[in-house]
Amino acid sequence: MTTINSARLIGMFNQVASALEADKDRLCQLDGVIGDADHGIAMELGFTAVRDALAGPDAATLDPTAIFNTAAKSFLNAVGASSGPLYATALMRAGAAVKGKADLDEADMILALQAMAKGIQDRGKAEVGEKTMIDAWVPAAEAAGAAQAAGKSLAQALDAAVAAASEGAEATKNMVASKGRSARLGERALGHMDPGAASAVTVIAAMQEGLRAA
Ligand code: ADP
Ligand code: MG
Repeated sequence: MTTINSARLIGMFNQVASALEADKDRLCQLDGVIGDADHGIAMELGFTAVRDALAGPDAATLDPTAIFNTAAKSFLNAVGASSGPLYATALMRAGAAVKGKADLDEADMILALQAMAKGIQDRGKAEVGEKTMIDAWVPAAEAAGAAQAAGKSLAQALDAAVAAASEGAEATKNMVASKGRSARLGERALGHMDPGAASAVTVIAAMQEGLRAA
């Protein structure tokens, strides 16, 4: 994959927006079962706002930190649901993790991914096992780090991240929620995948695809 410049990073966000447009209905359905049915709308609104904010001719002149910060601000302004501040924090932390870099190398991109997971954790205070998006994000970040430490390429590390996120999302079916809207359902949430964990898989897979395509 080599170097990720601003244009490639914007391409990655475009892919994430397209993926959430395509996944919107499924995510709303999942949220309809254990939440308030708006998660697909929230995620689509958020990432299409990011795409629009990065669509102008000036965006490619921004450095990666400014691109992540623009994304964070647009996501936050577009989304009223709890995913708004969670993803905005994730994106801001990614920007902070690569501060001062004109282009990102493979290690920088892993750092950005790990910073996203940590940002969501710091903002939402959820731990693994509480049936939230953290159940996908944390194993994804860990798997990417482990793959990189084992000498794998970014493409391979992101493949590992997608697989781990997917397993983590699947595991939320067997969890009772203690954070977020579905916490009030108690055991009635059992058997149902957490929508935020489901969308995390979509986001991470689209990041992978967007970077591969660019
Ligand atoms: P809302 O619950 O406000 O309607 P969304 O539907 O956009 O927000 O997002 C719901 C998702 O947010 C949940 O499925 C869960 O994954 C995630 N979530 C909720 N609270 C937290 C939290 N404290 N930490 C991490 N993720 C959370
Ligand atoms: Mg909701």
